[in-house]
Amino acid sequence: MEHSDTDADVVIAGAGPTGLMLACELRLAGVDVTVVERLAERTGESRAGGMHARTLEVLDQRGVLDRFLAAGELQPVGHFSGLYLDFDESESRHAYPLMILQSVIERLLEEWAAELGVRVRRSAPVTGIRQDAEGVTVELGTDGGGTAALRARYLVGCDGGRSTVRKLAGIGFPGTPATMTALIGDVELPDLTEEYVWVRRGPGGDYSAIAFEPGWFRVITSDYDRVAGSAEPATFEQLRESLVRLAGTDFGMRKPRWVSRFNDAARQADRYRQGRVLLAGDAAHIHFPAGGQGLNMGVQDAVNLGWKLASVVRGRAPEGLLDSYHAERHPVAERVLHNTRAQSALARPGPQTEALREVFGELLVFDDVNRHLRAMLTALDVRYPADCDHPLAGRRVPDADLKTADGATRVHELLRAGRPVLLDLRGGGASAAVAAGWADRVDVVEARSEADHWSVPVIGEVAAPAALLVRPDGHVAWAAAPDGPPGRAALRTALTTWFGPPARR
Ligand SMILES: Cc1cc2nc3c(=O)[nH]c(=O)nc-3n(C[C@H](O)[C@H](O)[C@H](O)COP(=O)(O)OP(=O)(O)OC[C@H]3O[C@@H](n4cnc5c(N)ncnc54)[C@H](O)[C@@H]3O)c2cc1C
Repeated sequence: MEHSDTDADVVIAGAGPTGLMLACELRLAGVDVTVVERLAERTGESRAGGMHARTLEVLDQRGVLDRFLAAGELQPVGHFSGLYLDFDESESRHAYPLMILQSVIERLLEEWAAELGVRVRRSAPVTGIRQDAEGVTVELGTDGGGTAALRARYLVGCDGGRSTVRKLAGIGFPGTPATMTALIGDVELPDLTEEYVWVRRGPGGDYSAIAFEPGWFRVITSDYDRVAGSAEPATFEQLRESLVRLAGTDFGMRKPRWVSRFNDAARQADRYRQGRVLLAGDAAHIHFPAGGQGLNMGVQDAVNLGWKLASVVRGRAPEGLLDSYHAERHPVAERVLHNTRAQSALARPGPQTEALREVFGELLVFDDVNRHLRAMLTALDVRYPADCDHPLAGRRVPDADLKTADGATRVHELLRAGRPVLLDLRGGGASAAVAAGWADRVDVVEARSEADHWSVPVIGEVAAPAALLVRPDGHVAWAAAPDGPPGRAALRTALTTWFGPPARR
């Protein structure tokens, strides 16, 4: 075995959206990171075609959102199993879904990673792992058919739904099997006279043809009469046959850029951490792509894990902090699996489902129903367990307008460096004094809120707090109400829980 001279604090397996986002988060926190990727180059294929509000917010938190907005197109509506949902600008500055191809998302993330100094090693599939008390040895295949090894303190498997890392770590992947087959391909459709076709339903399934760029369409067909074997290749001919079955024509389909297959299998890793090995993104959860949530969830896994892993690697927090990653993110994916199972049940052909869809469509007219579903799909309603009874505790912090001594800013802008922020909105310095022992880790900002009330998805208006502690991922660890007790003991507990013990004087 050829021995590698490269060691890293963290090795990430997989340069997909999750692995790249995690690498950026770790580098922002000063961690030495290497991404190892099985493929020699990016495929240019795009399974995902959109990003939701919370993902746009986390990119904004890091100051890179403009790159993504410039490369995509905002959509005024979204959908739940093909039934339209409205979005509401009061819930987020970036309420509307952004249509953007996964290949573009990956390119932009890889460019940002390069700027931050992330090493990406391609043609380097993970083939084996060995853990011990100090670290993990990651065995890799090499171009010439040989093997190499990298030594790291932690390994994160972001290597997709068929994750080798998950299997090698012996982590279970229970769930429900596929009950249908869907094909996706980017093709030309010269005989299609409509601008696009959106979830046209028939007796055997449904099809869509969505124009992403002038001249070519993304065709998706869903057949509910068959379940393809996982080793069966996906071909252009199968896509054509499926479209003819469902639409009665192939619209002159030609020039495939790529064709792939997916289904409604829904599975989730039973542990997100096994010692020094962690999982994120599709490696930790797979599901029917209804509502476009998978890539979004992987990016948000990365943003939850990044700062925690960085704190542990840099010796600022105990290893137990890593267990909060499973505790917080496993239930989020569990809920997404649940809503995608509901969406695939609503998509199944047949008179009973048609009736159910009609009733469901009638319910969507009600604001509360719309609000509930869009908060779920956009992940704006995610609330992590928090030891604080303020209504904002555990939720993502609203991006309120602020005034500081230096001028106007926004809450999300304060998170650019990926560091925790203690925001003192009343002045007086009481909470800043509590945080003095964490001055090396926590930024204290004194500001005034421009609004008396902040709009929070699902719960509505909340009085602007007197002070709040925001984690690097944008979730509120602690908050004090303007008319409540200062809660200094609770603040001290939150600081210790999330950012380790105070520094010795
Ligand atoms: C039709 C379709 C439409 C979708 N639309 C959306 C959408 O609109 N919005 C959304 O949020 N999600 C959507 N998704 C889901 C989204 O594509 C995935 O959730 C997303 O790609 C997951 O990213 P990832 O980085 O976790 O995994 P992947 O994108 O699968 O990346 C894994 C990477 O790991 C590499 N790898 C694999 N094995 C190894 C190994 N042994 N060693 C090293 N590297 C390895 C792979 O080559 C790959 O680069 C859609 C999915 C499908 C099928």
